[in-house]
Amino acid sequence: MVSARSVTLDKSMNSSGIRLTPGMAICQTDLPIDWYQEEFKPYVEEYLALPDRTPETVLPWMDKYIVPALDHFGDKLMLLAHYYMGGEIVKVVGRYGGQISDSYALALKAVRNPEVTTFVESAVHFMAETIALLKHDHQDIWITNPKSGCTMEALAKEEMVVPVFDDLQARYGDDILVVCYMNTSGRLKALAGRSGGAVCTSSNAAVIMEWARAQKKKIFFVPDQHLGENSGRQVGITPDKMVHWPGGWEGRKMRLDTMKPEWRQKFDDAELILWDSFCGVHMVFTERHVNYWRERGYKIIVHPECKHEIVKIADGSGSTAYLWAEVMNAKAGDKLAIGTEGHFVKNAVMQAEHRGVTVVNLAEVPDPSFPSAGCGCATMSRNDPPHLVALLDLLRKGEAPQLNKVLAGDAVDETTGWRERLDPASQKQIAKEARAALERMIELTEAAKK
Ligand code: SF4
Repeated sequence: MVSARSVTLDKSMNSSGIRLTPGMAICQTDLPIDWYQEEFKPYVEEYLALPDRTPETVLPWMDKYIVPALDHFGDKLMLLAHYYMGGEIVKVVGRYGGQISDSYALALKAVRNPEVTTFVESAVHFMAETIALLKHDHQDIWITNPKSGCTMEALAKEEMVVPVFDDLQARYGDDILVVCYMNTSGRLKALAGRSGGAVCTSSNAAVIMEWARAQKKKIFFVPDQHLGENSGRQVGITPDKMVHWPGGWEGRKMRLDTMKPEWRQKFDDAELILWDSFCGVHMVFTERHVNYWRERGYKIIVHPECKHEIVKIADGSGSTAYLWAEVMNAKAGDKLAIGTEGHFVKNAVMQAEHRGVTVVNLAEVPDPSFPSAGCGCATMSRNDPPHLVALLDLLRKGEAPQLNKVLAGDAVDETTGWRERLDPASQKQIAKEARAALERMIELTEAAKK
């Protein structure tokens, strides 16, 4: 049978420019079979029995399941992945005509593609849920692995943050609003909406922060402390007007009325309250790394989830879309040291090589006296070829597990994959409030582009 879609081994990816090449490893590490859902295990057994992980071996196996699914759904199906996906899954998603984007562009995929009814996302849960918050009623959002969470988001769960906001609001009334990073659940985005605030991503944090500042209210930024600080400084908030609230369960326990008065005064004086969660992947970069590569002629570009001390000495800082564009627009002979998630940099290294551009991971210095680079985003890497194959095949058969379906307000435990689903009325309420915060972000972002 001739496929309705063009599937060839070396197909370039329209949205990212990443290319699959013969011999390239499709997956770095296999997950233990116990990590998969029961329904997925027959596919995993086949995958684990393959003799290697090269495209020549893995792709024909994937084609066997994915091409019939693509034929079945036609243009009603869209595959999605984030730039940070490990295990080379971005290349696979791109090969099957999927879209690879940063979290802002991913969020808009359903609302901007009303003709597509089924979205299958290989990234982390908050990204899939954000698409679900904005989607049209006739569209469904699926995630290949519900256990694919975000460690930063895990330190800013609803049950940790909402009591703190209630405490802050009891003292500051309507003079406080929430700006929440995209890396949060829909329930926290709804909190931002209720407070008159907005969502932001790393690509528009300064735009949103500027807007929030103009409201003349205190800004409670949840999470990440580094993006909050970097974007706050960008719009002129000075360090003496910023104060940190501990992240995670520690933050949940803290209360304004039990603080020492001099500490409470800092909150009274602050313009920006930073919820202290962070991304471990972006914490490994040091000034020594920057100096090492700069002395060797490299341009240093970093993600704003890095500490301010790194962002301020880098040559450029921005979202994954910005970093990727820097790589794709570099000229032969250019040298870039990138400070962000490891899988992204690995993909950038390979794609830059094709054009005579040298890219290195900022933290990978060939000198044992430097701290180790660490690995990429381990939770995102939980989406691998068997997850994609199994979900697409089960969707085609009409047997996809509800655990993989993502609805507004779902709370997911990243360890077990357990999903707490709200009743339909509460889902609607969360979607309405979260949409208000997301739509404010979209409106401000698009206006800033003009
Ligand atoms: S790279 Fe960090 S912030 Fe991004 S999804 Fe992974 S853990 Fe979360």
